[in-house]
Amino acid sequence: MSEILLIITAVSLLCSLLLWRLLTAQNNKAQFAYAKHRKEHNDILERTKAERRELRLLLNAFDDAMVITNNDGVIQIENQATKALCKGRSVRGKTVKEAFLNEEICQHIETATSSQEPTKKKLILTSSTFGNHTESNTSAWIIDVAPIPSNEEDPLHRIILKDITAEHRTDQVKREFVANASHELRTPLAIISGYLENLIDDDVVDSPATARRFLTTIRKHSDRLSKLIDEMLTISKLESGEAAQLNKEPFSLNRVLSDITDRLAPMLSTQDSSIQLNFIPENITITGDQFYWEQALFNLIENALKQNHDNPITVSVDMKQDADNLTIDISDNGKGIPSAHLPYIFNRFYRVQKHHSQNEVKGTGLGLSIVKHAIEAHGGTITATSQAGIKTTFSIICPQT
Ligand code: ADP
Repeated sequence: MSEILLIITAVSLLCSLLLWRLLTAQNNKAQFAYAKHRKEHNDILERTKAERRELRLLLNAFDDAMVITNNDGVIQIENQATKALCKGRSVRGKTVKEAFLNEEICQHIETATSSQEPTKKKLILTSSTFGNHTESNTSAWIIDVAPIPSNEEDPLHRIILKDITAEHRTDQVKREFVANASHELRTPLAIISGYLENLIDDDVVDSPATARRFLTTIRKHSDRLSKLIDEMLTISKLESGEAAQLNKEPFSLNRVLSDITDRLAPMLSTQDSSIQLNFIPENITITGDQFYWEQALFNLIENALKQNHDNPITVSVDMKQDADNLTIDISDNGKGIPSAHLPYIFNRFYRVQKHHSQNEVKGTGLGLSIVKHAIEAHGGTITATSQAGIKTTFSIICPQT
């Protein structure tokens, strides 16, 4: 009997052992499968995260605002430039209208998305400020809308808002320049041709005095024409990037000023005016393009004299050089520049008084524009202040490299 009991106990022990082994194996298998599944899941998560990061990097690499909208015009994806355009707000989940708050832009986007065709349109916004254009009401944009090919039922659209305000302004300046230049060139040409006609048609040739007077006027205006063309070429060179190839060499500013004073000597004596030079240190040598510096300083001093030709004036030239900067103040005690005109005097062809009379040929309105370009080409700045009859000063600050 005890033997039977022993056998039963042994068999049940064996069964338990087998069952335990079986269960452990099952458990290990399940654990293994779970670990494998977890690893796969983590891998997918990591891959998705990496893809998202790449997508974000790619979108943020664009300078232009870019969003992706769903069929209801709700923004699904935005880039960093969009946030910047929307004053730092995130516009994800908002409609295009809520995001961009500009009727013209939204209307175009709406028409473009409903057409389901890729469309690009240039918009000039004049009446409202949009984006970061706070100083001027006018801004220019390219609105580029296209459907994104996808298998989803709801079509997605990508919308790019490209700010082309700077290019638009440059184009505008160029157009204005051509219009102004044509006008300025036509005026002396018309006068020359009028006088020539008189000389040919009338009997003025018989009157040498009248003929000389006509010819003097013709010469004056042809001089003006060639001055205009020279100055336009100088501006165009300075603007074309040739400034980057300035012919920089060390030269003495004392020498340049002494040459300018000599050139202006007849004008100084005619109007009984004087130039006071003040150099700290006594001798100043700078490195730059002597041709443009000479032209800039000549224009400023000549302006002071010619704008006050009726009265004797004093022009002061104060130059100071230290390790960092060269500062030049050119001042006169003449009639000054009215404050309403001050913001515009560096613009091309801008003159406070327009001299269109035949005998009063005063200038081209390009002088200060050349001065500004020349100083800026050397990394400097120029500003003007004026108190009529007391002091008009043009101040130049140029870093010494
Ligand atoms: P312009 O060839 O007519 O001299 P500029 O560009 O040199 O053209 O100067 C623009 C305008 O600025 C001048 O027409 C003049 O009205 C004004 N201006 C410049 N410098 C002076 C000055 N020192 N005093 C008074 N007006 C000045």
